Amino acid sequence: MSLYEKYGLKPVINAAGRMTVLGVSTPGPEVIAAVDDGLAHYFDIGDLVDKTGAYIAGLVGAEAAVVVSCASAGLAQAVAALIVRDDGWLRDNLHAAPLRVPHHIVLPKGHNVHYGAPIATMVRLGGGRVVEAGYANECTPAQLAAALDDRCAAVLYVKSHHCVQKSHLSVAQAAEVAHQHDLPLIVDAAAEEDLRAYLQAGADLVIYSGAKAIAGPTSGLVLGKAQYIAWLKQQSSGIGRAMKVGKESILGLTQAIEHYLTQPGISGAQMVEKMTPFIASLNALSGISARVVWDTAGRDIARAEIHVDETLAGLTAGDLVQALKTGPVAIYFRGYKANEGIIEADVRSVSAAQLVTIADAIRTRLEEKTA
Ligand SMILES: *Cc1c(COP(=O)(O)O)cnc(C)c1O
Repeated sequence: MSLYEKYGLKPVINAAGRMTVLGVSTPGPEVIAAVDDGLAHYFDIGDLVDKTGAYIAGLVGAEAAVVVSCASAGLAQAVAALIVRDDGWLRDNLHAAPLRVPHHIVLPKGHNVHYGAPIATMVRLGGGRVVEAGYANECTPAQLAAALDDRCAAVLYVKSHHCVQKSHLSVAQAAEVAHQHDLPLIVDAAAEEDLRAYLQAGADLVIYSGAKAIAGPTSGLVLGKAQYIAWLKQQSSGIGRAMKVGKESILGLTQAIEHYLTQPGISGAQMVEKMTPFIASLNALSGISARVVWDTAGRDIARAEIHVDETLAGLTAGDLVQALKTGPVAIYFRGYKANEGIIEADVRSVSAAQLVTIADAIRTRLEEKTA
C-alpha cells in the first residue's frame, strides 16, 4: 500500500519547483543511504558537527561550515551569533533581558520579503531588530551606508527571486559597504545554486536551504568565517535548541553537497528539451499560449510560461491554477503571476509522462468551460 493510500493523501504532481508546501525535493539514493546510515549509528554529536562542517568547508572553499535544521534556522542563529558573540550569559538570556549590545540588522527594503514566512520574523527570533535601507524599488550602496550606525550588528542581503531586482546593489557592493563600517554581511541564498559565488563576493556568512537546489534532506547550511560559525554553533545551547538538527540530516546533507558538486544536474537547456513537446501541445489549445522563460534571479532554470486569455479560454489563470489543484491528481504550478494571466510550470521534478497528464488536465478544464 502506498503512503497516499494508507493515509488517504492526494497524489501530487509538482510543477511548482522546490516548494516547501509540496515537500521541496526528492533526494537521490545516495542521500537516502546516508540518512539511513546516520539513523543506525551513535556519534559524538559535537564531533559530527565539527568534522562534517570541516568536510563541507573543504568542498566549497569556505573557512568553516555548519549544518542546521533549515535555512530559516540558519538565519535566526546567524543573527543571534552576531549579536551574542561568545557571551554565555547573553546566550542564556536572549529575549529575556534588554539588549545593550548592537542588534540592528540592516537590509535593503526590497529584500524584506515573505518567502513562506517573513524574513523579519527570523531576524527577530535571533534577537535582531530589522532596519530597512533604501526604498521599495531601489537601494544603492550609499542608501545602504546611510542606514548603518553603531547600533548595527550586521547587514543582511537576500539573494532571491522573491526580492525586488531592479535598482538594487549587488552582493559585492553590499559586502564593501558592510566592511567599510566594520560590519559582517549575512547573505540569505536559500534557494540559490552557487555554493561559492557569495563568499567570493565578500559575504561573511552565507545560508542555503538543504532540500532546495542541493536536494538534500530537510536541513540548512551556513558557510563563512570561522569565528562567526563558531559563535553560531554555540547557539545550539541557546535558541538553536528549538531548531535541533538530527544526525541523519547532517550526514544526508553532507552527502548531498558532495553529490551536487560532483555530478552535473539537469541544465537549463535540458529543461527546454523536456518541455518542448509540452509547450507545443498547450499552444494547440484555444486561449492558451506557452513559451520558454528563464529564471528571473539568473539561475540556470528554464520554465514554461503559460498565458491564459480569459475571453477565449472562458476562465482566468487563477481559476485554472485552482481547478488543477483540486483534480484527482493535484497539479501544482507556480501561481505568483496568476493575477497577470500567467502561470509558470517548473519541469525539474516532473516526468515526461506527467507533462502529458498536465496538458490533458488543462485541455479537459478548458473543454468543460467552453462546452
Ligand atoms: C526557502 C527560503 C528560505 C527558507 O528556507 P528553509 O530551509 O525552508 O527554512 C529563506 N529565504 C529564502 C529567500 C528562501 O527562498
